[in-house]
Amino acid sequence: MTSVRAYTATSAAGPLAPGVIERRDVGPKDVRIDIHWAGICHSDIHTVRGDWGPVPYPLTVGHEIAGVVAEVGPEVTRYRVGDRVGVGCMVDSCRECDNCRAGREQYCLAGFTDTYNGTDRDGGVTQGGYATGIVVDEHFVLRVPEAIPFEKAAPLLCAGITTYSPLRRWNAGPGKKVAVVGMGGLGHMAVKIAHAMRAEVTVLSQTLGKREDGLRFGADHYYATSDPTTFKRLANTFDLIINTVSAPLDLDAYLALLSFGGTIVSVGAPPEAVPVTLFTLFENQRSFAGSKIGGIAETQEMLDFCAEHGIAPEVEIIPAERINEAWERVLSSDVRYRFVIDTATLDAA
Ligand SMILES: [Zn+2]
Ligand SMILES: [Zn+2]
Repeated sequence: MTSVRAYTATSAAGPLAPGVIERRDVGPKDVRIDIHWAGICHSDIHTVRGDWGPVPYPLTVGHEIAGVVAEVGPEVTRYRVGDRVGVGCMVDSCRECDNCRAGREQYCLAGFTDTYNGTDRDGGVTQGGYATGIVVDEHFVLRVPEAIPFEKAAPLLCAGITTYSPLRRWNAGPGKKVAVVGMGGLGHMAVKIAHAMRAEVTVLSQTLGKREDGLRFGADHYYATSDPTTFKRLANTFDLIINTVSAPLDLDAYLALLSFGGTIVSVGAPPEAVPVTLFTLFENQRSFAGSKIGGIAETQEMLDFCAEHGIAPEVEIIPAERINEAWERVLSSDVRYRFVIDTATLDAA
């Protein structure tokens, strides 16, 4: 075992605090990574606050990880010491089920192993990326292309792939009208990626407050959903709507914006059930779908796509001592558009 510095939650309500956590020894197929950057995802906060179920404290969260390979096991073939790599929401899966064999590890029928608050192969609880190091099986390690600024790479491992996967699956591209609901960490990446795929992109945000940003990121249109005329004006318009909002939405109102054969895909969700009037689906043969992160091969494809198209998230770099403050700002939507922790500051914490 090796000890690494980390910022850790010890209760649902209390602040995260600096400390030390253990990482397993490097196994034959493991890669030990010195973490340089760790993104802050809203899921980290939901998990620690117990919104998604009971949590075995102490828990270190973080599933947007960018770092440098520090050691490899004897059977590792894909990475060498010094490589720039990333780790996202998964660190293991069964590798044997139909979904794993098809490269859809995120839908592993046995359940994938979450990067934090998951059950590790040794029966322990996995600990995430708000730390100076991590040990991960090479299958779940991604290569970060040189063209991606290193400090901006981490959020791609969750926010990037979560939006890339449904945009690919539902064929965002030339001639397609794509709407993105919400302009937060996920939404701003959806806009950039859909634009790079050459779709016609519309942002549907509560207000016009981030309109300038949205247009700069590649949106062609920007509408406020607080304006009721928006829904009249845009009825029967979109081929694809990516819903990144985790608060409850009036889904019927959004479904009515889909043109023939259109699909709304939710990647954010409230914990409770959401009502849908099925008659809204009958019109235009509409579909209502969901999507969860992306497979490992697809995540690599996304990183390479972002490198090729010069896409990276908008980030605000913070030292570890500002993590608690950053969480409060995430909860009040006061972030443009992703916080990234400089983990070098953990050594001093
Ligand atoms: Zn996330
Ligand atoms: Zn599986």
